Amino acid sequence: MKEFNINNLVRKNILELQPYVSFRDNNQFENPVLLDANESPFGEFNRYPDSTQKKLKQKLSEIKNISPNQIAIGNGSDELIDLIIKVFCEPKNDSILMMNPSFAMYGFYASINENKVVKLDLDENFEIVKEDFLNIIKDNQLKIFFLCSPNNPTGNSINDIEFYIKNFNGIVVVDEAYIEFSGKKSSIELLEKYPNLIVLQTFSKAWGMAGARVGVAYSSENIIQLINMVKAPYNVNSLSLNKIIEVINIQENIKQNIENTLNEISWLKKEFETINCIKKIYPTDVNFFLIEFENAEKVYKKLLEKEILTSKRSPQIPNCIRINVGSRKEDIQLIKVLKNI
Ligand SMILES: *Cc1c(COP(=O)(O)O)cnc(C)c1O
Repeated sequence: MKEFNINNLVRKNILELQPYVSFRDNNQFENPVLLDANESPFGEFNRYPDSTQKKLKQKLSEIKNISPNQIAIGNGSDELIDLIIKVFCEPKNDSILMMNPSFAMYGFYASINENKVVKLDLDENFEIVKEDFLNIIKDNQLKIFFLCSPNNPTGNSINDIEFYIKNFNGIVVVDEAYIEFSGKKSSIELLEKYPNLIVLQTFSKAWGMAGARVGVAYSSENIIQLINMVKAPYNVNSLSLNKIIEVINIQENIKQNIENTLNEISWLKKEFETINCIKKIYPTDVNFFLIEFENAEKVYKKLLEKEILTSKRSPQIPNCIRINVGSRKEDIQLIKVLKNI
């Protein structure tokens, strides 16, 4: 990497922004009388949540062995994707890079912000071709690279992630929404080495807490400060914050979730291998399969007739459907329909 100065990448107006600071959340009090925020004195949920999310950050800091100042909490990692684009990308002028196929939300938030979306096509195994990457970053001025690993919707982990972080002259966001299923090392351990790195994780998948809407960004203190500056002060509600801390305290939950999911993955794989209309089962590091059918359109419709919802990826990935594992009862329903096609 060239000489790295984060301020050269940040939008000027963000650097000049007067941040909103909650006095209450940023000072220590023993037993305060709270007459500062026009809240109701009555009721169970009458108080605003902690805008600095101290307790959750403290917990995550212990688990991940990283400073709380290197952690930002979002209303799902979706919000963090949006905030990261807002921090670095000037509307109309700046561009982001994403893999193709990959998670649609990077392009979605970039488009809302009027940023150009440059797509890096993956090879037939859904791996990045390094030479293509080097060419595309040479030909384009790019602010952020969203690198999703394991990737959605393809289900594979990307090899040699460090190469892309090292060679990209901008911010690299490694989206690890499915990392817990993969057994792969998190890129969090690369944060010390690379000041341009942001790692995203979420409670929506392996933790089974999609309804709570809580995502996490790990990065340098500088970048975390910038993300915190542009977020809505009370972006994560107190019900969700408390619930997530509760869930983290019972670490057995996630272990059980992952074990059950991986069991279900191997059970489903064996079943899929006996089904005629399936042409290819792509290798998976996640809680879903990408499957190529003889005729994905027909399969998708047949499943829908039985109210079994799946994610059709064709025509973008020809004849492919993404199907996540369900409970055994749901998976049996799925297999039953597929066997009759
Ligand atoms: C599901 C998913 C997320 C999670 O989004 P949340 O807003 O945290 O629910 C993030 N990235 C990818 C690639 C995903 O598939």
